[in-house]
Amino acid sequence: MGAIKTIGILTSGGDAPGMNAAIRSVTRSAIYNGFNVKGIYRGYKGLIDDEIVDFKTQNVSNIIQQGGTILKTARCKEFTTEEGRARAFDVIKKHGIDALVVIGGDGSLTGARQFASEFDFPIIGLPGTIDNDLYGTDHTIGYDTALNTIMWCVDRIRDTATSHERLFFIEVMGRNAGFLALNGAIASGAEAAIIPEISTEVDQLAELIQNGFRKSKNSSIVLVAESPVTGGAMGLAERVRKEFPEYDVRVTILGHLQRGGSPTAQDRILASRMGAAAVDALLEGQRNVMIGDDNEEIVYVPFSKAIKNNKPIDRELLNTLRRLSI
Ligand code: ADP
Repeated sequence: MGAIKTIGILTSGGDAPGMNAAIRSVTRSAIYNGFNVKGIYRGYKGLIDDEIVDFKTQNVSNIIQQGGTILKTARCKEFTTEEGRARAFDVIKKHGIDALVVIGGDGSLTGARQFASEFDFPIIGLPGTIDNDLYGTDHTIGYDTALNTIMWCVDRIRDTATSHERLFFIEVMGRNAGFLALNGAIASGAEAAIIPEISTEVDQLAELIQNGFRKSKNSSIVLVAESPVTGGAMGLAERVRKEFPEYDVRVTILGHLQRGGSPTAQDRILASRMGAAAVDALLEGQRNVMIGDDNEEIVYVPFSKAIKNNKPIDRELLNTLRRLSI
């Protein structure tokens, strides 16, 4: 592989606020360092379908404050096949792309790792997902914004929960991780979080009911991670209706609300730092690593570590939540 001249950039999988700030940062850092940049639309699908345009600094003007991704995103079954990836490689060669920056979650980086090893091709990953479920980075791009959105929504639900003296299960995203539920619960002063990480250890609902709801309050808000392991908010509400009919229970599923909106300062800064770090990594000859943050420091995390590795939750946070809901 010769020297890198042209960098392709794409966003893939679930969109997350801050992806645009990352696209802007990669593009401008790359141009600053003398690289050409190609914007690839619709993730791996656009790579296979040849939806590629030259990116100049103006292409990324006025996007740092926008949620979603100007490059669009997609899920692409074809890329999971050898033939699909071979077609993608042909398109890459046709455009003279020498390295890729892939912004996405676990699935996107799994695809990147596969492609990189098959074609001996340099790829740098950026963790773009609201779920915060990538190993080796304290934060993913989009997580902080989603957390703030959850807090904003729960504050509003609290008003009605209190007025009616109800038990509310609020379902939040997170795939198989409880970061949004746990930290969302702490930030919004909720009574508890039901998260997949400890679902096999304790019956969290039974524990919650046994402990009795907060004595000083007549309404309760419980955040539930969407994972099938937790039963989801609907499943838990069903259980309460059967097992504890004395409770007036309601469900709110926040859904895609959590994906949208203008990114927070924290996400914009994280995305800007990580985007610049992706270009630095290529300049240093790094390949097949995800950019992470570890105690505010930028780190390189091999794809093999970042994906398919369960990122542990901080048990101290669970204790904090328990202590604060007396
Ligand atoms: P996310 O990146 O948000 O986790 P997905 O899991 O949907 O989103 O993955 C995004 C895309 O990454 C998929 O549509 C597919 O094209 C690609 N991908 C996921 N897993 C693999 C895999 N094992 N091999 C190749 N490509 C994959």
